[in-house]
Amino acid sequence: MRMSQNTSTSQALLDHARSVTPGGVNSPVRAFRAVGGTPRFIREAKGPWLTDVDGNRYVDLICSWGPMILGHADPRVMDAVQQAASRGFSFGTPSENEVALATEIVSRVEPVEQVRLVSSGTEATMSAIRLARGATQRSKIVKFAGCYHGHVDALLAFAGSGLATFALPDSAGVPASSAGETIVLPYNDVDALDAAFAEHGDEVAAVITEASPGNMGVVPPVPGFTKALRDITTKHGALLISDEVMTGFRCSAAGWFGHEGQQGETAPDLFTFGKVMGGGFPAAAFGGRRDLMELLAPDGPVYQAGTLAGNPIATAAGLATLQACTPEVYAHLDRVAHTIADAASSELMKAGVPHQVQWASSMFSIFFTDEAVTNYDGAKKQDIHAFARFFDAMLAQGVHLPPSSFEAWFVSASHDDEAVAHIVEALPTAARAAAST
Ligand code: PMP
Repeated sequence: MRMSQNTSTSQALLDHARSVTPGGVNSPVRAFRAVGGTPRFIREAKGPWLTDVDGNRYVDLICSWGPMILGHADPRVMDAVQQAASRGFSFGTPSENEVALATEIVSRVEPVEQVRLVSSGTEATMSAIRLARGATQRSKIVKFAGCYHGHVDALLAFAGSGLATFALPDSAGVPASSAGETIVLPYNDVDALDAAFAEHGDEVAAVITEASPGNMGVVPPVPGFTKALRDITTKHGALLISDEVMTGFRCSAAGWFGHEGQQGETAPDLFTFGKVMGGGFPAAAFGGRRDLMELLAPDGPVYQAGTLAGNPIATAAGLATLQACTPEVYAHLDRVAHTIADAASSELMKAGVPHQVQWASSMFSIFFTDEAVTNYDGAKKQDIHAFARFFDAMLAQGVHLPPSSFEAWFVSASHDDEAVAHIVEALPTAARAAAST
């Protein structure tokens, strides 16, 4: 296995990119700030493999942060994209594919009666929140520390001290007035939820939660937490928004909702989707109860729109991807994820590195800590330096993990025996690197 890679072309591209793009990247985590080293500029990808501009190959455990559930350049999706593209790129009028994709989503996720298509997860959560505020005529939003819902002003907020804190902006450029409408609570903490609702219950438009959080690493809801969210929102006339941008159509055919087996009484009012449903193209959605969705323009008073929303190529890719996600695909994702996680855990154990493997269906992450992680404070206790050494050693051996310890690892239907063997072979060296200081 190769331990030293030529990354000179990636480095040269980064140097130039920095002069024309802030940090040289179009999304901050790509800059490798948490792990150090040179971000690889990828030239092409096929199945589970990435090839960078210097010709190095990597097994991909990012999968574009979730969308590439079938693997890269899947022939069925490629075909759908090529066919759609041959008929034109964007019409600005209604078209067939968007109806087909909406129908597919509505048929899979039982409480979703209608969806509106948008182009990114951020737009989906932003629009769902506007709709919740419009429907309830209230302004406050409850979110959980460590949950990421895109870079929406009101959702870029961190928790201050105390049980229920009016948040301070987590980014420059977010007005205090906007973040001040957001209440940030610790995840998996029903007491904190009760206390916040006791004080502000009649001002809360919605609770938004990741269906099973993956943006602080994988931290699933403890038993009863999702039900508590449903009960308290119903009691106080607030809406429950389940953000399934990451988990949707990945954790099962009906996302986390399908996986957790929630029925009827715990159904959220609104959902947001993205990633898998776009098959690697910019497509996302929000949807839910018909009486709520009908409040959207043109039928209702809540405005929301998009030049490229329901784009014919993106929707063709999304539809082809969803249709290829058979029960066998989900079984394969589970199997592959468990093989990789078990091997990683066993090597880390041998090397004496404290760690936790946490799961949301086939989504998993490894926290470098000896305590189970149930919220963001727990996630922050991990040894990020050990992770950085582990990451670096995996990358040097041709395995591309997400470049941060606060992320899920994603597998695809294309992760075959060869790709998995390549990962497993790299683990002992990486585990020893994590153990070294
Ligand atoms: N919600 C969740 C749960 C996400 O994981 C993400 C993206 N990682 C978003 C919203 C935002 O989606 P996008 O990056 O497409 O705007």
